[in-house]
Amino acid sequence: MIVSQHSRADFDPVVEWQSILTKTPPAIAQRISALAHDLGDELAEAFYTEMLTHPQAKLFLDADIVHQRLHASMRRWLAELFEPHPPEALSAIVAQQRHVGEVHARIQLPMHLVARGARFLKGRLLSRLLHRPDVAALDAQQTEAALLYVNDLFDLALELMAESYVRDTQRVARTEEAFRLHALSQNLQVERERQRFLLAAWGQEVLFALHRGGQPLVLPTLRGSEFGLWFLHKGDNLFEGAPEVEPVHASLDRIDNALLPQLQVQDPQRQPVLITELQAALGNLQYLVQVLFERHIELESGRDALTRLLNRRFLGPILGREVHLAQQRRIPFALLLLDLDHFKLVNDQHSHDAGDTVLQQTALLLLNHVRASDFVFRYGGEEFLVVLVDVTPEQALRHADKLCQRIAEHTYELPGGVALNLTASIGVAPYCGHPDYQYLIHQADTALYQAKRSGRNRVVVAGDAAVGPPTIAA
Ligand code: GH3
Ligand code: MG
Ligand code: MG
Repeated sequence: MIVSQHSRADFDPVVEWQSILTKTPPAIAQRISALAHDLGDELAEAFYTEMLTHPQAKLFLDADIVHQRLHASMRRWLAELFEPHPPEALSAIVAQQRHVGEVHARIQLPMHLVARGARFLKGRLLSRLLHRPDVAALDAQQTEAALLYVNDLFDLALELMAESYVRDTQRVARTEEAFRLHALSQNLQVERERQRFLLAAWGQEVLFALHRGGQPLVLPTLRGSEFGLWFLHKGDNLFEGAPEVEPVHASLDRIDNALLPQLQVQDPQRQPVLITELQAALGNLQYLVQVLFERHIELESGRDALTRLLNRRFLGPILGREVHLAQQRRIPFALLLLDLDHFKLVNDQHSHDAGDTVLQQTALLLLNHVRASDFVFRYGGEEFLVVLVDVTPEQALRHADKLCQRIAEHTYELPGGVALNLTASIGVAPYCGHPDYQYLIHQADTALYQAKRSGRNRVVVAGDAAVGPPTIAA
């Protein structure tokens, strides 16, 4: 295959896709596109039936919601795959294949099941193709073009899915590795103080050297300092993926490659300006490193610093596990997405500190009204995500109603003796058989949005109309 002869940098799937389209006579491509449209329903259904016979695949598929959605999306995927797209549409279609791979990775669908499904679909489509009278009438060259068209597009799509599947799976593994590394690094609080000190010490060293003068003047580089070495060999790894990492590198390079050489010239006129610049650059570096440490210390515990609730770090593993338990042992669960109503007013009319206090009290209230086996996350600013385990949809709704009511009844005690009453809106999404937990979060989010739109201080269950203010007595 062409791809394997090139290095990674040469591979452009859009070009690859285009070349498949270019070498296929338009009439053939049109004919197959029409066939994929016609057979969409039949192939999607046959695919589903076939995959259900596989015990491992059955776990991912055996739910009405999957049946409906998979059927529709499979049909759409087939139709889009064989459509003779214009060049400008190709990058979107490539992105679509990669997205499918990401979803497979997220739901941990084993790669061999994807391959099996693809083998089945391709085989079915090819055999149906060859049995069509209008295809049987084609000459050998045209038949070959038709077969290659189906084969190449199918395989390219699969290849793109596999690529993003592997990349995503590796990303998860890397995060875990970063986690392991920082678990190894003794104590992050101590490390933070040490690095702060080492950075300042380097600044002092440069100032002393400048003060001493001498020809030639040799200034120590920041990359070569204890801080610089630590950042490259450990910090970089520890903070992997954080947005401040690149700016730290850029700053280290600017100091070593631009500022220090200029300082080394010892021009008395420019020296004061350059020293001020150096100090500003160091101040900025200190700030970036502080932010990196703070964020990481928070992540390390998996807890949000303000409320001590779980942060999003463990959302994936926890929800993934609940989906697994629901699939394997038929233990249902539900998500409640709760958002405080008009919370911004608390900040505006009282203070940001008052807002923080409200968030802390809400966190406590939630923790006090769920079971020890449930999970409470701070999902965003004033949004909380509650995972109720082992509940039926009816129980989940009752519980959400109760939480809504408890918040409305609660008197928040703000600093300075101020008392305040607030309400919350809740979107409920009971597990529905879909293997992707993101789907469930999306359901809860849509329900929450409806609760807000229909007046706030209420609970809406995904898929339902608004369910007025809480009615069930506590
Ligand atoms: P709605 O009923 O539609 O949810 O209105 P709202 O005012 O609650 O929602 P909006 O999204 O307009 O405002 C949320 C505010 O929450 C804005 C943001 O400044 C504030 N916020 C987010 N995180 C924190 C935090 O950690 N502490 C404080 N005090 N405020 C926060
Ligand atoms: Mg909000
Ligand atoms: Mg809000």
